[in-house]
Amino acid sequence: MDYTLRCNSLKCRTQLNDRAVVTTCSHVFCIRCSDSLGLSSSAGIARTCPACSTQLSNPDDAVVAQLNPTEDYKTSILSGLSPNIIMECASRGLAFYSYQTSQEIVYQEYLAKTLTENYGNLSQQMDKLILEANSEIKTLQEKLQGYNPVQRCC
Ligand SMILES: [Zn+2]
Ligand SMILES: [Zn+2]
Repeated sequence: MDYTLRCNSLKCRTQLNDRAVVTTCSHVFCIRCSDSLGLSSSAGIARTCPACSTQLSNPDDAVVAQLNPTEDYKTSILSGLSPNIIMECASRGLAFYSYQTSQEIVYQEYLAKTLTENYGNLSQQMDKLILEANSEIKTLQEKLQGYNPVQRCC
């Protein structure tokens, strides 16, 4: 039932199970991609989201998230906040998740479309090959019949 987020770098798409870098523009990257794409660079250096090019100027615009938080973390992370803020954080977290799942659907649909197109092209090529082969066979058969020596009866 639970959908596992994948690194938003299209060349990577690693399943994210442990730690990941999340951005306020609703993108998520594995630690390795985050390092190589400059998301982990220290404060002061302008960061840009590799997925949507949003400027991530605040320190919390891209942070490491624990995807499997410990019990004590779950207990303490929202403790002390007012119900309004708790609900706001929860709804933003849900929005993030729903954006990620909808993007995954778009990606899968794109993949399916590309595969269908490729299949269509291949199938056309195959039909053409079969047609050519059949006509060649026909030509050869005709030639063969032309050269057929007089039938001898034994
Ligand atoms: Zn990655
Ligand atoms: Zn982004």
